[in-house]
Amino acid sequence: MIISSAKPFEEILASFENEDDIFVIGCNVCAAKLHIGGEPEVLVMCEQLRAAGKNVVGWALPTAACSVRSWESLVEKNAAIEDARAILVMGCGSGTSVVASVADVPVYSSNDTTSLGGLSHDAVLHDQCAMCGKCTIDDFGGVCPTAQCAKGLLNGPCGGSMDGKCEVDRDMDCAWELIYKRLKVLGRLDLLDRIHEPKEH
Ligand code: SF4
Ligand code: SF4
Repeated sequence: MIISSAKPFEEILASFENEDDIFVIGCNVCAAKLHIGGEPEVLVMCEQLRAAGKNVVGWALPTAACSVRSWESLVEKNAAIEDARAILVMGCGSGTSVVASVADVPVYSSNDTTSLGGLSHDAVLHDQCAMCGKCTIDDFGGVCPTAQCAKGLLNGPCGGSMDGKCEVDRDMDCAWELIYKRLKVLGRLDLLDRIHEPKEH
């Protein structure tokens, strides 16, 4: 899933300094799971905008903001959007850009998008995949060095890790230590012998 976090409300409001008649679009997938764009957050946003003196003409919660098909499909389910002079998307950057591609009014995002990650036991996992286009994660026990090693090393560690932490950022686990531990559990340490050519990005 796409990992994003909510911008401060003051920052969102500032972007509407010269805008009014706002339509709010949430996202019922990633943003809803992260509690930054599901129905409860959309309703709170509408209230906050109204309390700040803005006219909110309506809101919608498509399954995924990044898969809005067309302006017509939005209007079909949400006629009020035709009265909008600005749109606020409470999804990721991709969702905002898809909505902007079908809308003729300015489109803003309420969130900052940081990485492709996941959610496990309520913990947000950042940078699980760097979208390289040639997936070899099975060679690394499911821990992607392209995304999780600070140097993107494909053929073993740099040698700078200390106590399992990365030398570039001591708050980060060394991806290669995670890979080694995982392959050991799986009984597949033989995969460490594979040589990985540089990727053609
Ligand atoms: S190798 Fe890593 S960056 Fe590339 S697609 Fe697979 S998980 Fe994503
Ligand atoms: S310490 Fe580990 S994660 Fe950090 S750059 Fe070196 S190999 Fe990669």
